[in-house]
Amino acid sequence: MTKRYDLIVVGGGASGMIAAGRAGERGLSVLLLEKNKQLGCKLLISGNGRCNILNAIKDEHMLLEKYGSSKQFLYSLFAQFGEKDAFDFFNSHGLPLVVEAYNRVFPKSQSAADVVQFLTDYMRKGNVEVRTGCVVSSVQIKDDSIESILCGEEALIATDYIFATGGTSHPETGSTGDGYKWLEQLGHTVISPTPSLVPMAIKERWAKELSGISLEDMNITFFVDGEKEFKLNGRLLFTHFGISGPLIINSAPKVSKLLLTGIVTAQINMFPKTDSGELERQIISIFDVNKNKALKNIVSELVPAGMSKGVLLLLSEHMDMETKVHSVTKDNRKKIVNLFKALPITITGLMGLDRAIIADGGLPLTEVDMKTMRSNKVNNLFVTGDLLHINRPSGGFSLQLCWSTGYVAGSSVGKRDYPILL
Ligand SMILES: Cc1cc2nc3c(=O)[nH]c(=O)nc-3n(C[C@H](O)[C@H](O)[C@H](O)COP(=O)(O)OP(=O)(O)OC[C@H]3O[C@@H](n4cnc5c(N)ncnc54)[C@H](O)[C@@H]3O)c2cc1C
Repeated sequence: MTKRYDLIVVGGGASGMIAAGRAGERGLSVLLLEKNKQLGCKLLISGNGRCNILNAIKDEHMLLEKYGSSKQFLYSLFAQFGEKDAFDFFNSHGLPLVVEAYNRVFPKSQSAADVVQFLTDYMRKGNVEVRTGCVVSSVQIKDDSIESILCGEEALIATDYIFATGGTSHPETGSTGDGYKWLEQLGHTVISPTPSLVPMAIKERWAKELSGISLEDMNITFFVDGEKEFKLNGRLLFTHFGISGPLIINSAPKVSKLLLTGIVTAQINMFPKTDSGELERQIISIFDVNKNKALKNIVSELVPAGMSKGVLLLLSEHMDMETKVHSVTKDNRKKIVNLFKALPITITGLMGLDRAIIADGGLPLTEVDMKTMRSNKVNNLFVTGDLLHINRPSGGFSLQLCWSTGYVAGSSVGKRDYPILL
């Protein structure tokens, strides 16, 4: 006879694993299904393999502000399992954490693989049965409840189900939007996912020479048709297709709207903490000790490490780089200062879902009971993680949502004191 589980969790990513582990810890019989051979593929690439596991903003009000218009829905969720709870959950139970710049929290080991291992152990302790390489292909419903789900030829049955199949960014990790399809079939609204936190493509050839260079504390200002729109500080990464890093990724939601209205350009300030006068004095003192060298040979002394090749290309579009330093005119010196304070780039578009950190869209929070993560259309369905439509910046705020929604769902399943939907 087919075994009936208390809970089936579909998706072995961050939110699915914590949800399954929590339900198992409460004594429920739990089956977790993951289509990849390995658990937590997206977790493994998060934070460049270091996994920015959460953000340690202590003030709950300030933390919730990060979630924009979704914050009104998150109070009860975070009251049950918020930042402090998530921090303690890992830090006090075998995964020591460290807080880095901008309150970003990482495992002390700097290894995302350790986060996956921690969650795997958590599930094991709760006797969760894990099946990898199992693609759930369809969901059968009867009387507003899920009756079974199909994995290959096998129908699997549980009292409750959690969909934790993730969004649509980086589909190679397994998040291919399957959950969205099922939610629509079950009568839910699904807001179309688009890349949200995503790198940008740029036109300039000189910038492509900088691929791989990462710069802390940069400042970027965006313009539409030459009109200033907004500016932001943070870490910037040059890539072979354009620009990335937290500074760029967090600018992407606004830039995607600007791209609909005109030509978007930007200026990167390589020396945001130095005013133009001081920068010029610094350049003059470098010129003074290198008078007889060609300008092209001293660029590396003028710019942050790694930037000289690209900056040389850029400067050569504006002046003769063979000129001896002692012959550089005052006008050209000022031009150098102005370019260093405003490296000009043209944004040709945002990159696609394959490179997005998150895609926005998904299940609107109005269709979920955020105290339990239970669907308000299907009696025995709970939804977690990236399947939910919640915009947020980078910095650990996405995984915090996975821990909160997953833990609360895992704490809520198996209870029958909630009203049955009519
Ligand atoms: C490059 C990158 C870096 C990131 N870095 C960070 C970071 O440092 N900090 C941060 O907070 N956030 C980060 N994020 C975002 C964060 O990783 C996600 O928000 C989080 O992993 C989502 O977890 P999830 O449980 O919702 O879904 P996922 O982790 O996407 O897991 C869903 C799982 O469901 C499985 N699945 C899907 N369909 C089926 C099916 N039909 N049958 C069976 N299984 C199925 C998938 O294979 C997958 O394993 C990053 C994202 C990316 C892409």
